[in-house]
This record gives sequence, C-alpha cells and structure tokens, in this order.
Amino acid sequence: MSNSLEDHKECGRCNRKLKDAKSRERGFGRVCFKKHREEVAKAEFERNQQRLELEGVG
Ligand SMILES: [Zn+2]
Repeated sequence: MSNSLEDHKECGRCNRKLKDAKSRERGFGRVCFKKHREEVAKAEFERNQQRLELEGVG
C-alpha cells in the first residue's frame, strides 16, 4: 500500500540482522514479529480487563 517502504536492517526485538525483505519491512524477524503481535494482543486484552474492572463490570 505504502510507497515508502521502511527498510529496517535489524530486528526491533533482538537486534539481529534482518535478511528477507518482508522482515525488513516489518522491522521484526519472523519469530519476533509473532511474539510482538502476541504481546500487543495481550497488552490490549489486559487494558480491556482493567477497564472492565474500573467500570465495575464482571
Ligand atoms: Zn528478532
């Protein structure tokens, strides 16, 4: 979609050199990208849980 592809030379998680174009585009190696996504999802889930607790739901 975007014309200006960012070229990350190193992984944003482990700082290892990224070899394939897809990883460089994402800024994470394949495994780290998966972990990163899981962490984001988990953080979001916990945020939602906290909000529900604050609102007194559940
Ligand atoms: Zn990595």
